[in-house]
Amino acid sequence: MSDSASVPRRALQVVVLALSMAIGALAACIPRPAALAGQARRLASHVRARPATPATSHSDPRSDPTPADPTPAFANVLAPHGWMDEVRRCGRRGRRFFCDGPRRVPRAFGEAARLADRLRLGTPELFGRLRAVGPSEELLAAVDAPADDTLLWPVPSGFLGRGFGFVRRGPLAHRRHKGVDIPAPRGAEVRSTNAGLVVYADNGIEGYGNLVVVLHADATHTAYAHLRETWVFAGETVTRGQGLGEVGTTGLSYAPHLHFEWWRRALPKNPTRHFAERPSAAEERRLQIEAQRRREALARATVRPSRDG
Ligand SMILES: [Zn+2]
Repeated sequence: MSDSASVPRRALQVVVLALSMAIGALAACIPRPAALAGQARRLASHVRARPATPATSHSDPRSDPTPADPTPAFANVLAPHGWMDEVRRCGRRGRRFFCDGPRRVPRAFGEAARLADRLRLGTPELFGRLRAVGPSEELLAAVDAPADDTLLWPVPSGFLGRGFGFVRRGPLAHRRHKGVDIPAPRGAEVRSTNAGLVVYADNGIEGYGNLVVVLHADATHTAYAHLRETWVFAGETVTRGQGLGEVGTTGLSYAPHLHFEWWRRALPKNPTRHFAERPSAAEERRLQIEAQRRREALARATVRPSRDG
């Protein structure tokens, strides 16, 4: 009895040993599982269709004190000198009629305006050159901000929609989507994914609507399209996470969303795997307060166009 039972037991041990060796070998073939898990976790935090909970709204004020000294963060919140003249440029692409406006861009002033004049920032020519050959050395030298390896998620209340590449169907299938789409409510805050210099903020690039382009110290640039209004102007230096404007649907767009592009030199890149995890609750709160200050400063602007967007 004991002999006849030990044979299948030994056979079972051999099978288990072989199986565990096979699993070990398989595991060794998978590249950097920890790195992949990190990537997946980062992406999952943006793909899920959940608006970021404002850190302030539901929490107990006693357990959620105001950040110790928010003042330094607001040093770059500038009092606006009014808005640029309202322009609505309309066109047709195929059977589609669209308008790159109404233009809602604050008027440049001070040191930033002088820098923009000197470097010809904010012009369609500069935008075209940036796309065709990348930034000049002179332009890069004007970027006075550190570059971070990761990209901050640009729309706190948005989630990842259409991805990068040949993702369209139908008549536009041959056209590469040069960025990612982030659907969000109209008026939602759009943030700079990294510190940098605003090299374009206007509505003169066909299809993009109100558009902000930020050049970063590592020679990459990011573009934020279809905005309802921008809160920045060409020549301004922005910090990582600074509010750039509001989600809208200006230009060639069907519904409110941010079309976000990330370029290295003269090539559009897929930003998806480079997004950082969402900011901590304290950092989120600081960014929200800063954005609110800027929104209020802009609301006091002398020439404010009527809101029909
Ligand atoms: Zn898009």
